[in-house]
Amino acid sequence: MTVLLHACCGPCLLEPYDALATDAEVVVCYANPNIHPAEEYARRRDTLLDYAEDAGIAVIELPYEPALWAEATSPAAETPERCRACYRLRIGMVAAEAARRGYDAVATTLSVSPYQDPEAIAEEGTAACVEAGVRFIVTDFRERYPEATRRSRELGMYRQNYCGCAPSQAEAAAEREERRAARKEAKRAAREAADRASADEGDGR
Ligand code: SF4
Repeated sequence: MTVLLHACCGPCLLEPYDALATDAEVVVCYANPNIHPAEEYARRRDTLLDYAEDAGIAVIELPYEPALWAEATSPAAETPERCRACYRLRIGMVAAEAARRGYDAVATTLSVSPYQDPEAIAEEGTAACVEAGVRFIVTDFRERYPEATRRSRELGMYRQNYCGCAPSQAEAAAEREERRAARKEAKRAAREAADRASADEGDGR
């Protein structure tokens, strides 16, 4: 069986590729118009390409057209939920390419990430592949995420800290800021409690 595997980035490629390549001929497809900005797109792609070259994995890159993502996820788009629309677009691009090149099936590395929605990936991937006339291999690679993390760290791969689109970049930055503020507040409260405790001790002398 020949599989065109949609890959979002290098770290997420590691485990899904190995799992699928045990009984299929797998070619990787980098199709990610969601990634913002262009420098980030190139950085993730180059991380993936460096690994693929070392591992002898073939990669097809589809054109980077962020306008496609903006259109697919606009409020007027057919799929109202942003991430669903994003899955549908990316897997749809790979499915069309797979049909054009005569591959048997399509899969995606997205299901290795605990930050993604496996049910939505399965539904949107299946719908996109039905439309293109190829089979979608539904996967859930999340149990391999710790190993993917370990391997990508060991390989010194670039590991991004947001999903990909501009809104996810802003959301991740806001979450980091919230966590920083919570840590600061916890430290302040602990300091105050320690000060009160030592003042109480002083009172008892
Ligand atoms: S958060 Fe990730 S999956 Fe969702 S729309 Fe943005 S890039 Fe796509």
